[in-house]
Formats: sequence, structure tokens, C-alpha cells
Amino acid sequence: MLASGSSEQPQPQDAPDVPECSRKACRAAAVWQVKWNNPKIHTPARRKIWLACDEHRPWLEHFLQQRLFWRSTEPLGAGSSEESGAGSSEEPGDADQAGSGPAGEPPS
Ligand SMILES: [Zn+2]
Repeated sequence: MLASGSSEQPQPQDAPDVPECSRKACRAAAVWQVKWNNPKIHTPARRKIWLACDEHRPWLEHFLQQRLFWRSTEPLGAGSSEESGAGSSEEPGDADQAGSGPAGEPPS
């Protein structure tokens, strides 16, 4: 019996932890962090972070600017994520629901 050599190939199972865009249904890699704060429920120093791809950065900024929540947008990659919004419970949601939330929190 001849050993046919090792033909087992390692399969890449470790998917790199790529942050994804926070926009609903968008799976693009995020390259921006949109930082915002809702003065009604957050302390002034608090920063919520939404991750955004190139395409949705303007959408998310506009969404927050309408509510005066937007604070800054910074390029992602610096590794400093105090509160990453990726995959968390708070998602931007649909724009139609905007304005109906008494708490001012963007709809989920
Ligand atoms: Zn996106």
C-alpha cells in the first residue's frame, strides 16, 4: 500500500473580522465611523458610532444631521472603537420612520 501523501488542504475558516456598514441590508465593508450623540438621552461626551461604507456615509450623515445628532465622521481603521455599532442592536433603520420617535433615537 502506497501512501498517497497528504492531500488534506487547510480550509480558511477564520473569516477576518471585517466591520460592516451599519445601513440596513448593506454588507459592504465599513470604511467610516459616523459619530453621533442624542443630547436628550446621552451625556455630551458620549459618542455613538455607526459604521458606514463609502456609499452610505452621506445617507447616514444626512439622517443624523436632520436630527442634529451628527458630531463627526472619521475614517475607520484607527482601531479605536470605544463603542462599535457593527451588528449591535441599534441600526439606522428606515428613513420613513424618522421623526415619529419621541425619544429621538433613530428607529431600529
Ligand atoms: Zn453601506
